[in-house]
Amino acid sequence: EEKKSLNFIEHIVEEDLTSGFPKSALRFRFPPEPNGYLHIGHASSICLNFGLGLRYSAPVNLRFDDTNPVKEEKEYVDAIKRDVSWLGFTWDSECYASDYFQQLYDWAVDLIREGKAYVDSQTSEEMATQKGTPTEPGTNSPYRDRSVEENLALFKDMKEGKFPEGSHVLRAKIDMAASNMLMRDPIMYRVLHKAHHRTNTDWCIYPMYDWTHGESDYIEQVSHSLCTLEFAPHRELYDWFLDQVIDPKKVRPKQREFARRNLSHTVVSKRKLLQLVEQKVVSGWDDPRMPTISGMRRRGYTPESIRNFADTIGIAKRENLVDVSLLEFHVREDLNKKAPRVMAVLDPVKVVITNYPEKNTEWLKAENNPEDEGAGYREVPFSREIYIEREDFREEANRKFFRLKLGGEVRLKNGYIIKAESCTKDADGNITEIQCTYDPKSKSGSGTEESLRKVKGTLHWVSAEHALEAEVRLYDRLFTDESPDTHKDKEFLDFVNPDSLKVIKAYVEPSLKSAQVEDHFQFQRIGYFNVDKDSSESNLVFNRTVPLRDSWAK
Ligand code: ATP
Ligand code: MG
Ligand code: MG
Repeated sequence: EEKKSLNFIEHIVEEDLTSGFPKSALRFRFPPEPNGYLHIGHASSICLNFGLGLRYSAPVNLRFDDTNPVKEEKEYVDAIKRDVSWLGFTWDSECYASDYFQQLYDWAVDLIREGKAYVDSQTSEEMATQKGTPTEPGTNSPYRDRSVEENLALFKDMKEGKFPEGSHVLRAKIDMAASNMLMRDPIMYRVLHKAHHRTNTDWCIYPMYDWTHGESDYIEQVSHSLCTLEFAPHRELYDWFLDQVIDPKKVRPKQREFARRNLSHTVVSKRKLLQLVEQKVVSGWDDPRMPTISGMRRRGYTPESIRNFADTIGIAKRENLVDVSLLEFHVREDLNKKAPRVMAVLDPVKVVITNYPEKNTEWLKAENNPEDEGAGYREVPFSREIYIEREDFREEANRKFFRLKLGGEVRLKNGYIIKAESCTKDADGNITEIQCTYDPKSKSGSGTEESLRKVKGTLHWVSAEHALEAEVRLYDRLFTDESPDTHKDKEFLDFVNPDSLKVIKAYVEPSLKSAQVEDHFQFQRIGYFNVDKDSSESNLVFNRTVPLRDSWAK
């Protein structure tokens, strides 16, 4: 682990330590806005910030950036906490920007007193026309030179609810000719007569992101405030606002930027994910097709696989697109170690073993996980009638088909060698039953010469009498396009994959009766599956987490 090279953010921290910044003063934060569920992009930011905390034994705050009551909800706060914990991280303090509303207000009053902020009473359209362009300076507001007294009185009245929304804003008095457009008298407060999920109706003015974020970092004494690249031009303003309040004896937070992570065949934007939920393209934020942490969890991805993925892609200075197959690789790698092997037949066709005694049940010993010695064994029932996958049988096939064909032999996993003798078809020519014979001496693990006999193919199967019926949800990519939200002429919703979910009935071995929600399994030769939250003992429901890339003897 230590050999892993440092990312550029870690280099910045190392340089600060080298130039005398005390290690004990390092502090980080992860600052979600509770206006949606966390997604795979956030997972990168979580791993970055909490990873720094672990590397330097420094505290990491979970800070809710809750300054916009219009879009924020308690449900999202709870989901965010659940998701960060599930990923395996522990925050030092749970903080809310809304806890700083009074302090922010007091500082704003100080700024007014110092002539550095003023109440603007124009419409937002009027203010927009005065912004200027990147090459032309803006125009001063006619309210820019209001007296301190008038500003103090108006700001107080704004706070006390005397004005309707849109009537006044508080602006920082910086420079309408600044080359950085964000420095052209940015808005610090707006009137919003909306109840907040935490402060309720205590406030009807709400601070803007730029005014809130740096000051919150300062209040919490965060040393390194890491955000995504779109905030790079905001850094000058972040620093200007800090300059207004900073006590030189305290830690001065430092904003640094890294690239947003994009994942192929999906969208990573809470706004767009909300659209998918609201338009019922998916069943909810935790639909297993969603790139949300809760969706991936329900799909069967593990925290370790998501963390390993985030570590592998690392932190970049420029945006790029990461292929979802890399995430799936990490999911398989982790589940291969952890998931017990079981047998399930997704597209069943019946096999009758004609020389096997009727009404006989035999319990065969099956290894739970060859990758995990401690996982032990279980017993699976075998009887005269079994199901195998329809695609595992052909009447005729060439020598490369190592599955079952007429006159050919295969081994049943954990069981006997069988030979296909004949088959029955319906009027449309579909095979309805395959008749086989078995070699009674060939039982796996019995030590006989016949049991060691090599046959080319090994098939999974379930006993027809003992198998449980289960609903299996087969997921595919939610979008057919690699980057659905980057097309000029089309909307991302135009690329929704109509086949992203297929629901089928399958037969699974009876040991799965007691499987618990979120339990992971490898359905041998098929893929990784987990138990969905909709599942019950009488109505088993499995999600396909990810198909197996390689399958034994296929
Ligand atoms: P969205 O557009 O999805 O709403 P956001 O940046 O507005 O994203 P926040 O809740 O503000 O969402 O994000 C919390 C933190 O996660 C921020 O520091 C943000 O920069 C970071 N973050 C958000 N999306 C990504 C991403 N795709 N890759 C890396 N970090 C991200
Ligand atoms: Mg944000
Ligand atoms: Mg956002």
